[in-house]
Amino acid sequence: MNGDKPVIRAHLAAHVEAYGGLHPVYVHTVEHPEGLVLVDTGLPDPPPLPQELRSRVAVVVNTHLHFDHCGGNRCFPGVPVHVQARELAAAAAEPDEHTRPEWVHAPGVVYVEHDGEAELLPGIRLVPTPGHTAGHQSVLVEGVGLVGGDVAYSFRSLGDADTEGKRRVLALGVETWLAHVERPHVPRRID
Ligand SMILES: [Zn+2]
Repeated sequence: MNGDKPVIRAHLAAHVEAYGGLHPVYVHTVEHPEGLVLVDTGLPDPPPLPQELRSRVAVVVNTHLHFDHCGGNRCFPGVPVHVQARELAAAAAEPDEHTRPEWVHAPGVVYVEHDGEAELLPGIRLVPTPGHTAGHQSVLVEGVGLVGGDVAYSFRSLGDADTEGKRRVLALGVETWLAHVERPHVPRRID
């Protein structure tokens, strides 16, 4: 906590190969009076956070269910994992090449499904940001910023404003963290 405001932190969880290179995967924690929130879980191995932090996680959010965002869900058996219902349905019905159904439905993983915007905890909202996947969501921490997952892979791409999700994040105009970028920025539209 920083005064009485939640604090968002990025944690390097893994590297994944894509587009001919190795890319970092960050997961994000939000310190909240009601407990530690973890946004995305990286890969199953290594687990997404050091043990002392992992044991404090009270709530998990998956921005979406691609393998590098939900692979570590199994490390939090019984902890509620918040996801958009349409994302969970699509991962089962029409998995794409980034989906590993056995990682989505690993033993002990308990999903809480949402249909659109929802209050996760006081001051923390789930905000649908479709585009990268139809059921992609972001996590808005009031007065602090937004954890945007894969709404875009880079701030340059975010500035293109070519999906509903990117436009929504640009309209919010707050400090934003992305899953594959170390530092947050306030995104700007690139014309
Ligand atoms: Zn993705």
